[in-house]
Amino acid sequence: MHQFNLMEDSYRHKGLRRKLIEDLRVKGIKDERVLDAIGKVPRHIFMDSSFINFSYKDQAFPIGAGQTISQPYTVAFQTALLEVSMMDKVLEIGTGSGYQTAVLVEMGAKVYSIERQRELYLKAQSTLPRLGYGKAMFFFGDGYQGVPPYAPFDKILITAGAAELPEKLISQLKIGGRMVIPHGDNKSQTMKLIVKTSENDYEVSTHGNFLFVPMLKGTE
Ligand code: SAH
Repeated sequence: MHQFNLMEDSYRHKGLRRKLIEDLRVKGIKDERVLDAIGKVPRHIFMDSSFINFSYKDQAFPIGAGQTISQPYTVAFQTALLEVSMMDKVLEIGTGSGYQTAVLVEMGAKVYSIERQRELYLKAQSTLPRLGYGKAMFFFGDGYQGVPPYAPFDKILITAGAAELPEKLISQLKIGGRMVIPHGDNKSQTMKLIVKTSENDYEVSTHGNFLFVPMLKGTE
């Protein structure tokens, strides 16, 4: 079987991405800006080498430290629900491989991303600048705390399943801002969209079932 060169982004990869985008359209993703970003980000460079030949399959894969790179459909769905605009300040909880971070940067967002697993934090911090996504800022810490010095954010994206809606993060959201969060226990979560309507109020809507690794407290 052909083994991908780690740093190369070939015509073959681009072809596989075009096919992935067609798969995502069939599955109901309509946001052209999101599809365009997914068409540009070389997912194979964010994958663990054992799974590199499956980079453009619409599946989640292990990335080390017991974590996963999200399924492209899930990345597309969450990003579309967030309604990212150019220059938005976006806080991402769960950097993981950094793939979702790259999709947000590709869409023109100013991204602040937090990871609680040191190994993944260090890896993403070296991968993204090499690919030209060095504008993102990386933080090692517990995402439940957010990043108060850079608050408030236009958007907050949580890429791990949270048992509760984190009030501390909602307080770091601008009025009119949107938070997308998989909400539930470790067996299944429903995708929730929170729209902050005033300093003390927000509206919650539900957008289907998903399965994420859990959002955990503290750091490793
Ligand atoms: N966005 C990632 C998805 C990674 S899976 C990607 O595209 O690859 C979710 C990640 O959330 C894991 O790396 C996990 O370690 C991290 N995580 C879980 N709880 C967290 C918390 N409280 N703060 C920061 N990161 C957290």
